[in-house]
Amino acid sequence: MEAVVIGMGKSGTAAAELLRRKGYRVTPYDDKNPLPLPENPSLAVKSPGVPPNHPVVQKLKNSGVPVIGEVELAYRFSKGRIVAITGTNGKSTTTALIHHVLLTGGYKAFIGGNYGIPFSSFTEETSEDSITVLELSSFQIEDLVDFKCEISVILNITPDHLNRYSSLSDYASAKLKLLSKSELSILNLDDPILGNLKGENFLFFSRKKRADAFLEGDRIVCGEFILPLKELPLKGVHNAENYMASLLVLKELGVPEDVILQGFKTFKGLPHRTEFVATINGVTFINDSKSTNVDSLRKALESFNRIVLIAGGSDKGLDFSPLKSLVEERVKAIVAIGETAPTFKSLFGDLVDVVIEGDIYSAVERAYGLAESGDVVLLSPGCASFDMFKNFEERGEKFKEAVRLLEETLAGR
Ligand code: ADP
Repeated sequence: MEAVVIGMGKSGTAAAELLRRKGYRVTPYDDKNPLPLPENPSLAVKSPGVPPNHPVVQKLKNSGVPVIGEVELAYRFSKGRIVAITGTNGKSTTTALIHHVLLTGGYKAFIGGNYGIPFSSFTEETSEDSITVLELSSFQIEDLVDFKCEISVILNITPDHLNRYSSLSDYASAKLKLLSKSELSILNLDDPILGNLKGENFLFFSRKKRADAFLEGDRIVCGEFILPLKELPLKGVHNAENYMASLLVLKELGVPEDVILQGFKTFKGLPHRTEFVATINGVTFINDSKSTNVDSLRKALESFNRIVLIAGGSDKGLDFSPLKSLVEERVKAIVAIGETAPTFKSLFGDLVDVVIEGDIYSAVERAYGLAESGDVVLLSPGCASFDMFKNFEERGEKFKEAVRLLEETLAGR
């Protein structure tokens, strides 16, 4: 049996290894290292990063070769229950939270997908009694064929990746395709697209209205189960949404409420998502490097007051003007970095001080200089990191290093 794998990143490599273990002869294809394609492959597996109109994908499709995604491939070798999580923002946090609660309860649980662990790398370990929690990007959903899950979650659909999709509605359709692959879907009632969906196999959560799980003051209400937010470690309105979505999934899976509560209380969150770094002379530093679009920046701004914001990065053509009133209300000054720094200056320069810095170290020093005791220096770029860094992790690590250096310099004086 011949197979082609297109795109040899992490998931392509894992797909190739899985196929080899299953007896396929695999031709790995990558633009960086293009190999001749075999005559009559019976299958082609495409990495999520490879666009659907890539010439090799087109060529294979035109000659009748089925082209599937890496998640689809892994699914075909998997067993047990599957929960799939998508959305523009909050996917990783919610996926990790659900997985953590399942482990807390002693369940046999796996985590992967867009989370950084390819499904193909562990699918053979799944069993009838296991639960696999998968984070799925819209690119991964596009390439699903027979995939089915017991429960899916769509957290929100807001503008992002519009460099790959021609419109928000194309991007939304990619995410909404997951509904047809799920026995039950858990959706955000407050989202303009998701809130209007009607179906018998939908459950909703809401910050604003009564729903299957909803916020009442500072408590999450889900039937008889009431969870005060102040007892939970993850802060911010966006995390209240992540908790509600997770709660509905876990209850649906049959996890007892005491396990859910214990799991929620012991999950400390992922790095680079509104992560506390340090407090120096009353100024608190928060690392939200994973914030790469308008809504994640909005949620970070809504989570703090008296903010000196470090923002900017590579340009995806996103429109930040809907954040003007929030910036005026909560932001004292902006230190803009990266390709979009001039955009931030022209958009917000009339409302607050906007200064431009060339690297993260000088940005941190400048932000500290602009802050007073009680203020928050918030790195929440609202943009991807590729103009200045390898990825968002490197950006966040450099930010934390810059804060440490600042602390040392101040201590040494
Ligand atoms: P994803 O995996 O979808 O990128 P993450 O959990 O890694 O999501 O968070 C990405 C960014 O979005 C972070 O800046 C985080 O603070 C913010 N965020 C997390 N959950 C939500 C949510 N439910 N709505 C909006 N923003 C969120």
